[in-house]
This record gives sequence, structure tokens and C-alpha cells, in this order.
Amino acid sequence: MAKRDYYEILGVGKDATEAELKKAYRKLAIQFHPDKNPDNKEAEEKFKEAAEAYEVLSNADKRARYDRFGHQGVGGAAGGGFSGGGMSMDDIFSQFGDIFGGGSPFESFFGGGRGRTRQAVGSNIRIKLKLTLEEITNGVEKKIKYTKKVVAPGVEFNTCQKCGGRGQVVQVTNTFLGQMQTTTSCPVCGGSGQTIGKRPPEADHQGLINQEVTTTLNIPAGVEDGMQLSVGGKGNEIAGGTPGDLIVLITVQDHEQLKREGNNIIYDLYISFPMAALGGEVEVPTVDGRVRIKIDPGTQAGKILRLKNKGVPELNGYRRGDQLIQVNVWTPTKLSSEEKAMIKNLEESPNFKPNPGRNEKGFFDRMKEFFH
Ligand SMILES: [Zn+2]
Repeated sequence: MAKRDYYEILGVGKDATEAELKKAYRKLAIQFHPDKNPDNKEAEEKFKEAAEAYEVLSNADKRARYDRFGHQGVGGAAGGGFSGGGMSMDDIFSQFGDIFGGGSPFESFFGGGRGRTRQAVGSNIRIKLKLTLEEITNGVEKKIKYTKKVVAPGVEFNTCQKCGGRGQVVQVTNTFLGQMQTTTSCPVCGGSGQTIGKRPPEADHQGLINQEVTTTLNIPAGVEDGMQLSVGGKGNEIAGGTPGDLIVLITVQDHEQLKREGNNIIYDLYISFPMAALGGEVEVPTVDGRVRIKIDPGTQAGKILRLKNKGVPELNGYRRGDQLIQVNVWTPTKLSSEEKAMIKNLEESPNFKPNPGRNEKGFFDRMKEFFH
């Protein structure tokens, strides 16, 4: 099923302010809260959908990426084995619990009781992955090694005495609205419904041990520095529950010669003055290897040349950016007396006097042409 637009989910315009987003989210969260809609799968989905939308739009950085790339830009199903950026109920409550504060009549719904009805989930693991410009342009398969917690072999489980294996306990509290029942996850077993019986000496109190694992990540072409990709189920295990996620933070190594600017790649080319005047051929680096380009006779410094489709592809899109080559003309900084004499001769030569015509575009015109 296609993901709904985050703005549409919250029922706000694209220009909504932070306060408007918060208000819209709060309204939906109260309406679809699991404590008010017990065993209602649809309400739970709506509750999670709203939290995900708010999580992205309330973060300026994520919101900018979402506006630009859509769901792909914020860790949504990015292909290559990454799961959707859905949030678990625990994530929602730990992140947005405070949104319900402030003495509203609903506060008791959101106080201590979290209405958690799902089984225990292991914690997420965050790792950083450094990629080269070539790797983000072409996409890459990366084998990574990391350490995660797994259930130790030989651990024995007992049914939790406190909750009888249900993982939840019901609390009755008196409020000014009358008696209120809240369901909370069991404080003894943490929601798993099981407690650890016998465990091997190397296991911790949750029956877990550290294990080094290897996994293969398919990084789609077009990712950006700072993006997070989440791989479902590759995080820490938990006894009696489902494993958390592996969250991969993308960082991009600086390239020695090429610079990324959106989906374009910028290269500063230096040519000699004779080549600018006479024309010729030079080799330039690209993310696909070196390419020979022609320099026309009479090329002015500041000219921008475009190599079509040598930029970075859009994430999961079909378009690819270009490589823009900014031509600089190298002015000698040291001259022998012989060289000095030759240039002195040219100084008075009529064709060497600057004579910019209508065809010589100034800096602002060139910027307009290439970046808009
Ligand atoms: Zn329990």
C-alpha cells in the first residue's frame, strides 16, 4: 500500500508552523490513542501513522528532506532491503509522551500507563557507515560487522509470576473523572511475559550475550550525508520478544576533487592561458572515471561546462544530475625573464585588450542559467 503524504495525515498545509503541527498531532494522538481504542487495529495504525508524520515534520532537517525526496528521503522504504520507517509504540511514547502533558482531562490516559499491548521489543543498534562519492552515486553493497545482543544458548524461561505471562498488568486509579483503568507493561518481566530461569554464567540478567554478526546492506544510489536507513529486525534481541532495528547513519567521505551540490557534482578545472586562447583537450575526473573534454578556442575564465548525467541519481528516481565544470584560467605566479618578455610583447597587442561583448555572460547570468 502506498504511504500517505505526511501533511495529509496531519491535515495541515505544506507551510504549517511548528505550533500547528503539534496541535494537529496532539488531536489525532488523543483521538486514536490505544487506551481509548482497546484492541482496535485500525486506530492503532492511525495512531502510529500520525506519530511517524509528526516525527518527521517536527524535525526541520527531516522535514526538508521529506519535502525534497518524499518518503524515500527520511528512511522510508528505500529499496535494497530497508524496511519502512515505521515506529513502534514504545518509540512513540518515549519520544512524544510529553506532548500530552499540561493538565488536560486526558492526562490520566497518558500518565504512567502507556497502554502498551505489544510484546517486548529489543533495543535498536545505531552504526555509522562511511561511503565515498562513487559509492553513493552508483549504489553499493556493503558487508558490515557489528556486535549485537542475542539470547544466550541454554537460557531457560519461566512464565512471569506477576502478570501470568500476559506481559501486562491492569492498574486502577482514582481521578476526578472517576475510576480509571490503565494497562501497563509488567514491571517484572518488562512485557515479555517471561522471566529468566537458569542462564549460563556469561549471560547478563536478561539472558543475553554479545555476539559479532555480519550483515550485507544494499545502499541505494543517491543517499545523502546524514540520512538514516533502518533495517528491521537486525538490532538487539530480547528474550520472548522481537529484535530491535539496525539504524545505519550515512556519512559521506569528502572527495579530493569533486564536490556534491544537490544531485550535481561540481569540479574546478584549471587550464593554462594558452589553452584558453587556442583551445584543446583536457581530462577531467568524474564519478565514472576520467573523461576527455574539449576546450573551445577563446574560452573565458568562469565558463561552466556541463557533463550530462555524470552527477548523482535521485534516490529511487530515474533522473540523474550532471557534472558542472567550472573553468578557471591559471595565471602564472612566477615568471622567468624570458617569459616576462614574451608576455610584455602581448600586452600591447590589440587582440589582448579586454573587450567583453554581449555574449560574455557575467557571474550572475551564469549562476541563473546553471542553478535554476
Ligand atoms: Zn510479567
